[in-house]
Amino acid sequence: MKALPPSLWLALLAEVEEALAVYVHIPFCRWRCSYCDFNIYAGMSRWFAPYVAALEQEIRWFGRAAGRARARTIYIGGGTPSLLPLSLLERLFEALQEAFEVPLGIEITMEANPSGLSMAYLEGVRALGVNRLSLGVQSAHPEELRLLRRDHTFEEARDHFAMARAAGFANLNADLIYGLPGQALCRWQETLEAVRAWGPEHLSAYALIVEERTTLHRWIREERILAPDPDLAAEMYEWTRERLAQAGYRHYELSNWARPGYESQHNAVYWRYEPYIGFGAGAWSFLKDRRWTNVRHPKDYIGRIERGESPVAEEEILPLSVQMGEMVILGLRRVEEGVEDVRFRARFGQGLMERYGAVIAELEGLGLVQWDGVRLRLTPRGQLLGNQVFWRFL
Ligand code: SF4
Repeated sequence: MKALPPSLWLALLAEVEEALAVYVHIPFCRWRCSYCDFNIYAGMSRWFAPYVAALEQEIRWFGRAAGRARARTIYIGGGTPSLLPLSLLERLFEALQEAFEVPLGIEITMEANPSGLSMAYLEGVRALGVNRLSLGVQSAHPEELRLLRRDHTFEEARDHFAMARAAGFANLNADLIYGLPGQALCRWQETLEAVRAWGPEHLSAYALIVEERTTLHRWIREERILAPDPDLAAEMYEWTRERLAQAGYRHYELSNWARPGYESQHNAVYWRYEPYIGFGAGAWSFLKDRRWTNVRHPKDYIGRIERGESPVAEEEILPLSVQMGEMVILGLRRVEEGVEDVRFRARFGQGLMERYGAVIAELEGLGLVQWDGVRLRLTPRGQLLGNQVFWRFL
């Protein structure tokens, strides 16, 4: 593969000494959920095989360029990776194993939608080394699943969860959404209680954000449904924090809870502002002070790889001030650890107070952050008003 910017080559080769979090994007879904603005495409099943062939090539190319870097975590995300047949997933994992040193026991996650999967498929995924499955469940209520245009029922989600357990997955995540248009607190409580009863090791609960250019946005604009109520969403969040703490889950990131020891190691890399490499259409990579992304559309991506061209669409070198701000913003998402002064100082040669003393004092005065001389954290109130905190560091 040619035409990669020389600066990127240099950055890659200089940085891959460090173990990398590896992300692979599978940009296909059966159809688009009403709230989704991700880089995904529906009705493209005939592109699955060429897409995986392109992924294999990109991954192998990186392996050759970077001298078989060590992987720290692997995450197959999307989209809906579980739409890919097992034979294509096998090829993908062969390429990953060839290009990276993959230490035994590292976290390997795959996202799946609880629809149409068989026991044999889940056992096959497990046999490939995937040891963490993340299931999009979202709601326990049929009318909410219809509103979200999910491609499964709650009963299917429950059965797939049980099937994944029986297939040997000891680390299961369920993704949930709250703060839906017209959703009462008790409906969200019912969803959380129902899913919690399955015993997932990890729960992600996201407040619905109505993104522009989504079906949900259009329905709200046309006044066919109500806009979500932010005060009610805040109430749901507070209740969730309390309920999951009682149930023994650690609230380790703003929207993520885990049984101790089951925190997502892959996502922690993003929040700790550490390096990752992404493969596939629209995938982002980040090494040291560089961030770049591949072309977004799978057909463009495949075309570039087939022609032996770089799939990189954009590359940016991040100014120091941006890196500092991003490290704080991402670190604040880690509710307990927050941003550690020692790590900030090691990276930038100055402490948090030296850099942001005035901002931190102001935010402390507003009761939004807490500085204990070692780390900076959001207060419980700051967790509710994160955006009011974050922009001040940019
Ligand atoms: S399954 Fe996930 S990625 Fe696919 S359309 Fe729905 S929300 Fe988006």
